[in-house]
Amino acid sequence: MTRICLIGAGPSGMSMLYHLAKMEEQGKCIPDVVCYEKQSNCGGLWNFDWRTGVDEHGEPIHGSMYRHLWTNLAKECFELPDYTFDHHFGKSIPSFTTREVTLDYLSGRWKTVNATKFVRLNTIVKNVVYNPDEDNFTVWARDQVEDKDLPSEQFSHIVVATGHFSVPNMPYFKGVETFPGRVLHSHDFRDAREFKGKELLVIGSSFSAEDISLQCVKFGAKSIVCSSRSGPMGFKWPEEIKEKPLLERIEGQTVFFKDGTFTEVDAIIYCTGYKHTFSFLPDNLRLQTENTLYPPNLYKGIVWIKTGNNKLMYIGMQNQYYTMTMFDVQSFWACRVILGEKTLPERDIMETDMSRWIQKLERVTSIPDGIDFQTEYVMDLCGDSGYQHNLDVKDIFQDLNRKRKESIITYKDNVFKSKFTGTVSCKHHKPFMSVFDDSYDAIVN
Ligand code: FAD
Repeated sequence: MTRICLIGAGPSGMSMLYHLAKMEEQGKCIPDVVCYEKQSNCGGLWNFDWRTGVDEHGEPIHGSMYRHLWTNLAKECFELPDYTFDHHFGKSIPSFTTREVTLDYLSGRWKTVNATKFVRLNTIVKNVVYNPDEDNFTVWARDQVEDKDLPSEQFSHIVVATGHFSVPNMPYFKGVETFPGRVLHSHDFRDAREFKGKELLVIGSSFSAEDISLQCVKFGAKSIVCSSRSGPMGFKWPEEIKEKPLLERIEGQTVFFKDGTFTEVDAIIYCTGYKHTFSFLPDNLRLQTENTLYPPNLYKGIVWIKTGNNKLMYIGMQNQYYTMTMFDVQSFWACRVILGEKTLPERDIMETDMSRWIQKLERVTSIPDGIDFQTEYVMDLCGDSGYQHNLDVKDIFQDLNRKRKESIITYKDNVFKSKFTGTVSCKHHKPFMSVFDDSYDAIVN
């Protein structure tokens, strides 16, 4: 009997439930599905968690988003074609939205088919094993509110949608243990106001390093030194931000860089990325990967080929340019396979397909290349699954990337045109760097 265990009700998991609920509404017979979600709400990272460290149940905090976060993607890059922003809000809103507005939009789509009915909130998956004799999986979960382990359950399929931006990667720098100020990872960064008037060291050159540095300047940080192993980000920064090569050592409040220069700082923010972590999975089921556009051992970036039965799947495990639309087509593809509407090819064909993508990935050396690569991946899934819409928005991504390069300070003031409605977003009433009220009302109304 087909029975699906879905782990995680973030945007990826909810896309899967959306498609199943929609198929059910269309009169299809769908299998039993249980979605376990450890937080008290659906939406994954888009829920704001004021806590850091552990949650109210003593489990590691999932959330990595901060109070004044605006999307770093224009909403036209992740708009879902069958549920557009115009449709949800009934009018045009700015291209760059906030965390709360994004969650409101996503929830609106789930509500259209009551997709949340499959979710068991506050329930964390603790362990999964594969039973070769029965060719199924046993899952152990815990009800965190009742504070009790639930009886184990059997499933034919496991879909892991637990995200991969929650467990910090924290490299060691000599002397960091003696630094007298605050040392934190971007996962624990909650409110830029904490750093008003402060001198900061930001380590890293990722999207987090870029966005958190700008946030801190916006909310009054005195100065920021960004240090990176992989070379400068190269933007025309506001005068408060300077770039340095990699941090070499720390002595007291002084931080020394590879080029021999040094400076004093009050706090250190690690923007050094995240680790793919699945503490509930044994080694034989566990994806081990760095943050890449094509993780290993996943056919079509989804099916775990190492158990041999192809009934363990992962959604949303790639590094991301495309987000909501990629999760959506991955989920649709996975649903069709689980429902038996799509047959997987023989193992050697799957392996050849994966090798082809991994070879292609070797030629990706820049952000524009990465956007092209992921567009091709998303379009491959659209074609292979019979997804009804063309999700190619690479022109919007490339245009956005150019605008970021032109001006990191003003790129969030730009407006983009929706591929699906043709609407050009309205302009926000003030530039991003001078908007301090990012409540739902301020953005939408
Ligand atoms: P998540 O959102 O991480 O959801 C995973 C879910 O799994 C969570 O609800 C979690 O509680 C649950 N879970 C985990 N472990 C268990 C367990 N053992 N048992 C039960 N449940 C479990 N994307 C954009 O499109 N635009 C942006 O502007 C943008 N900005 C970002 C900014 C930051 C700081 C970060 C960190 C990410 C950003 N992203 C952005 C990317 C983000 O990854 C995706 O938008 C999206 O949240 C990924 O969805 P997901 O469902 O795969 O994972």
